[in-house]
Amino acid sequence: MRHIEEQKAQLKNKLFQMRLYEVALVAPLGGALYFLTFGWRHAAELDGGAPIVLLGSGGLILVAAFFHWLNWRCPVCRKHLGNVLNPKYCSKCRAVFP
Ligand SMILES: [Zn+2]
Repeated sequence: MRHIEEQKAQLKNKLFQMRLYEVALVAPLGGALYFLTFGWRHAAELDGGAPIVLLGSGGLILVAAFFHWLNWRCPVCRKHLGNVLNPKYCSKCRAVFP
């Protein structure tokens, strides 16, 4: 029984870490939003400023999407959890999350 409790605690820790990483995605997405809203002011002053704004914000969004794709996976079977905010179980392997 003790072994199962340890596994549960490990799963809980892993899920907490995953959620923490998802919250950290606010940083690159916020950066992209900042680029898109305030970058244009500076873009006009630079030659080729508009592509820099688009590449910068697009790159940040791509990085965030890729990281989400890597991070948001079932700790048991490693399949992607989909875009569920707070999954209670894995839809692929049916592992229940504590
Ligand atoms: Zn799974």
